[in-house]
Amino acid sequence: MRFLLTEMDVHVTVKLNPTLLGREAVDGLLHDVLGYDEVRTRPQDFAKDLQWEQALEITDRLSELARSRGRTFQVKFSNTLVVENHRPFFPASEAVMYLSGEPLHVITLNLVEKYRRARPEVPISFSAGVDARNYADCTALGFTPITTCTDLLRPGGYGRLPRYAENLEARMRALGVRRLGDYVVKAAGQGEAAMERVIADPALRSSLVGSLRSEAVDLLGVLTGAGRADLYGGIVRAAALANTPVLVEKATRDPRYRAEANRKPPRKIGSRLWLFDCINCDKCVPVCPNDANFVYETTVLRREYEVYRYEKGAVRPVPAGLFEVKKQHQIANFQDFCNECGNCDTFCPEDGGPYVEKPRFFGSLEAWKAWPARDGFFAARADSIDAIWARIRGVEYHLEVDRTLDRGLFTDGTLQLEVRHSERRVVSASAREGAAEGRELDFAAYLNMALAVDGVLDTRRANPVNAPYL
Ligand code: SF4
Ligand code: SF4
Repeated sequence: MRFLLTEMDVHVTVKLNPTLLGREAVDGLLHDVLGYDEVRTRPQDFAKDLQWEQALEITDRLSELARSRGRTFQVKFSNTLVVENHRPFFPASEAVMYLSGEPLHVITLNLVEKYRRARPEVPISFSAGVDARNYADCTALGFTPITTCTDLLRPGGYGRLPRYAENLEARMRALGVRRLGDYVVKAAGQGEAAMERVIADPALRSSLVGSLRSEAVDLLGVLTGAGRADLYGGIVRAAALANTPVLVEKATRDPRYRAEANRKPPRKIGSRLWLFDCINCDKCVPVCPNDANFVYETTVLRREYEVYRYEKGAVRPVPAGLFEVKKQHQIANFQDFCNECGNCDTFCPEDGGPYVEKPRFFGSLEAWKAWPARDGFFAARADSIDAIWARIRGVEYHLEVDRTLDRGLFTDGTLQLEVRHSERRVVSASAREGAAEGRELDFAAYLNMALAVDGVLDTRRANPVNAPYL
């Protein structure tokens, strides 16, 4: 932090953990107030984190340093809360998981109140369970900036954000304010008490109170008229501080943050995802913060398939089973956009995770090659030739489709099939010199590749894979 303030000469924000509130207080809120009885904190996580006295010492030291350099030091509340992993969602080998959302909102607001009592002058940035319904109250607490994350992982994603501003605007209109500072002063009914603290002149205070009680609040206008616009920031800050216990109490008592209102485990229906077909709820598309999952269409197919085996100098088909894709509507994943946050798995009613089980398309051949332990596809189009690389259950395949000749050349590097692509029918089979006796090439891999790639490269519906060819 010292380096950032002195060498880089920038403003500094330090993000702090909710453990700073102390385990007893956190557990009291979690269990006694909010009812999340199943959530367990661990003493060692509180012991090893930054302690309260240390946080205040750092605050004082860095605030002073920042002041001396004409820079700002502020704190951000808060990180997620580390708790015991008690759910089957994560592997049992993971000792902890991280709590966010509604319970973290209340815990973090209580931490803000504690911190503001100790260091009221330090600016605060806030991020903990912020959503459209509480954004206006967060604004009334004078937090700058306010950030949100968990809410964006819910259906609608970034499309949820306009509602934040709309709700704030509605609150401001209802209070008769047009400026954010005026809103902070009026939002929780603490404005007159704040003015008592900041404005010594009774006449000026009376004018301000008159404006505050009106339906067209203009505190800055009153102060400017009196030549004291310099007092405006102080009134707003005092109001934000005065609002704190009021709004923290309001959130702590609000049933919407309690366990019974939020204990809705993701509904799983007991079926498992694979490359094709699912219940097609499409939830995995809007809940991805990176837009990595997308819909494409393929053709339905039901047929017997073979493996092609090299024996005694010839490649012959051997019946292997039934291949079936029942639906046109399919889901795929664009690997280069996916950071494996797992959110689509949380919302998917089926098991396995869309980002794991659905066809994963890499954005370049280099990216596909760079992940040899990961199944996936890379597809490229040049003139009438589509070239597709695939890794399926660890085996690598290549398929080249000449759309003009309707010819597919499918190989694992040793055995090769020439296919009438539109009919999914093998025309000829061959082996490279030196092929091992008994080597097999799975025609189901061709069918997987053909269906996925024909669908994904179909430019009638745009997606991240076919975008370069639109
Ligand atoms: S992969 Fe899961 S979330 Fe996505 S459409 Fe299929 S069932 Fe729904
Ligand atoms: S795991 Fe990947 S695809 Fe799924 S929501 Fe996260 S980023 Fe999106």
